[in-house]
This record gives sequence, structure tokens and C-alpha cells, in this order.
Amino acid sequence: MSVFDRDPVDDYEQVVFCSDRATGLKAIIAIHSTTLGPALGGTRFFPYASEDEGLEDVLRLAKGMTYKAAAAGLDLGGGKAVIFGNPAVDKSEALLRVYARYVDSLGGRYITAEDVGTTQADMDMIRRETRFVTGVSQELGGSGDPSAATAYGVLWAMKAVAKRLWGPTSLAGRHVAVSGVGKVGTSLVRHLVEERARVTVADIDADAVERVVDDYDVEACPPEKIHALDADILSPCAMGGSLDRVTIPELRCAAVVGSANNQLATPDGDELLHRLGVLYAPDYVVNAGGVINIASELSPRGYHPGSAYEQVRRIFDTVTTVLDAAEAEGIPTGVAADRLAEGRTERLRHVQQIRTFGRRG
Ligand code: NAD
Repeated sequence: MSVFDRDPVDDYEQVVFCSDRATGLKAIIAIHSTTLGPALGGTRFFPYASEDEGLEDVLRLAKGMTYKAAAAGLDLGGGKAVIFGNPAVDKSEALLRVYARYVDSLGGRYITAEDVGTTQADMDMIRRETRFVTGVSQELGGSGDPSAATAYGVLWAMKAVAKRLWGPTSLAGRHVAVSGVGKVGTSLVRHLVEERARVTVADIDADAVERVVDDYDVEACPPEKIHALDADILSPCAMGGSLDRVTIPELRCAAVVGSANNQLATPDGDELLHRLGVLYAPDYVVNAGGVINIASELSPRGYHPGSAYEQVRRIFDTVTTVLDAAEAEGIPTGVAADRLAEGRTERLRHVQQIRTFGRRG
């Protein structure tokens, strides 16, 4: 099918195909929206089975970034990039630098960051060709790995949910089931243990489970059973799509609050959770801590951990706003979050019609 005949492409400001025979670079940069600011989103390096599959992914992810940035109150739009290939085999200095030149050629309309298959070292390499990159190492003035900030945001989202369900924001004595103890999950477990919550963890990687159980003295459970645990909060911190038509009816928790992207396998998952009385804190609102943290690298004063983390804590307010709207209108929380993001983008759209010719910041 022709790229231009694809329905969703109409909704995107710009989709750039990048190719370089000498280095083998094949990449797509998708800019969904710059209504609120430059389109920020990571570069995914992945061996897609086909070009179509890569295009689908980059379009979906770029749009997701627009919603995440808008709901988080950032002055950023949504974009994403994919590089085709196996990062372990195909990644090279030359390929990354050619890719970085393509990012640079967009003049700041797209700002990149780390994602699946790319690392902080790759961002440092990209920085040698363009300033339109975030998540570079601290030596280069960057904010480093965003996982800790993401986990901190999940913690504050849980506090907002706790307040709604039980009154106090404290998680002391609450039972939280964390599915996936990678970078975000492990950092979250540390916060929860500090809060004196009861924690149960699961992961398909037995070593990761053992490490967390040893370090934090928490309980463990088989990964295929954690969603059905009798816990107060289920926190999906592994891969997307874990909440589907089979797992949702098996849930025994009061709320779902986790870092994983695209937790709902199908769009009706939101409605199903709503009907079953499970409070779902929408994933892109909950997991915005990482993007809030890297976005603060773009502030004219440069990256400041104190003010970045203060901004991450505001996820508490955003979750509260979403829950209030959902309750007031009797709609699922995911729908309420989408309306919040779309409403802000729509309200600010006309600002761009007033033209200015100086530089901001
Ligand atoms: P990670 O790769 O460090 O950790 C993921 C963990 O999940 C791994 O330990 C893996 O073994 C485990 N896992 C995979 N499949 C599983 C399954 N079926 N059941 C249980 N465990 C399973 O990734 P991360 O950086 O910690 O990110 C976790 C999730 O949060 C991802 O969905 C990611 O997209 C999302 N996210 C991360 C950030 C960030 O700052 N790192 C920001 C936003 C969203």
C-alpha cells in the first residue's frame, strides 16, 4: 500500500524516511505534532520483520508521545524514530552519526532520546552531530538514564490513587504487586519498601527476581500469576499488552498503576476495567516521569535534578485531575486522560497562529 494512502499518515505533520547505503542506515522519523513544542521521542533500534511493521510502530509511538507530553503539561509535541536492524550487529559509529545528521536536518522540530535498542552512549554519540538530543550523559550536561525519574513518577501516581481509594496518600501497609523488575520496577520497589508497603515481585528473569528479593526482602510470585494476586495495587512494569480479555477478569486488585507502555492489549480494556470497578491510572500519565526529566535538559538553565523531580511529583496532580474528570463524567479513566491531552493541544493550537520571529528561551 502506498504510504500516502495509509489513513493515519494524514494525522501526522511530517514523516521522514532516512537512508544511507554506505552505513546501511534505514530509519523513519515521525513527527506527529509540534503544536505544543518540538516533537520529543526516543529512537528505537529494532529488527522489524518488514518496513510496514516499522512504519506502523513509529506512527503509533509518535502519536503516543503527543498525548504523554500534553497530559504532563510539557511544552513539547510528539515524535518518534525507528532504525531498522539488529542493534547488536548493525549499530556503528558511522550509522549513528549519519542518523544524527538527519535529526539535525529537521532543525529542532524533532528531538531524540534513548529507547529500546539504543543507549545513553548512543545519545552521546548522536550529540556529536546534533544538539537535538536528550538523555545524554551527565558529563555532557544531560540527565542520564530516565528510569529512576519514571519510577518516582509511578510512586506519586500511586499516592494519588491511594488518596482517592483510601484517604491517606501513604502506601504504608498497602500490598503492591510489581510485575517486571527491570530498571523502573527495581527503582519502584526501593521507593515502596521505603514507604513501608508490602511488595510482591515477579519477572521472567529469575536472576532479576532473586536480586530484588535479596536486596529489599520482598516476596516473589510466578510471572504468570502476579496479575491475579490479592493485592491493593498491581503495577505492570514489564512489556505492554499485559491487560487483555483474559487477564482483566482475573484481576483481584483495587487499582492498576504501572510504568509499562500500552498496558491495555485492546482499546476496550479501559471500559472493561471501569465496569469491573478496578481503578486504572492511564499508563502514559503514570509513566511520564522519564520524559519530564529529560525534557528539563531543554530548559534554558540546563538540567537541574531538584526542579526536574519537583515537576515529576506533579504527576500526582495530573492523575488526580484525570480521576476527577472520569468520576464526574462517569467515563473510563483512559478516555478522561485522552480528553485532557487533546483538550490542551486544541486550546493551545491558536497560539501558533500569532507569529513571532525571535527565538524563544
Ligand atoms: P527493562 O527492560 O529494564 O525491564 C523490563 C523487565 O520486565 C525485565 O526485567 C524483563 O525480564 C521483565 N519482563 C519481560 N516480560 C515479562 C513478563 N511477561 N512478566 C514479567 N516480567 C517480564 O525496562 P524498563 O526500562 O524497566 O521499562 C519497563 C516498562 O516501562 C517498559 O514497558 C517501558 O516501555 C516502560 N517505560 C520505561 C521508561 C523508562 O524510563 N525506563 C519510561 C516510560 C515507560
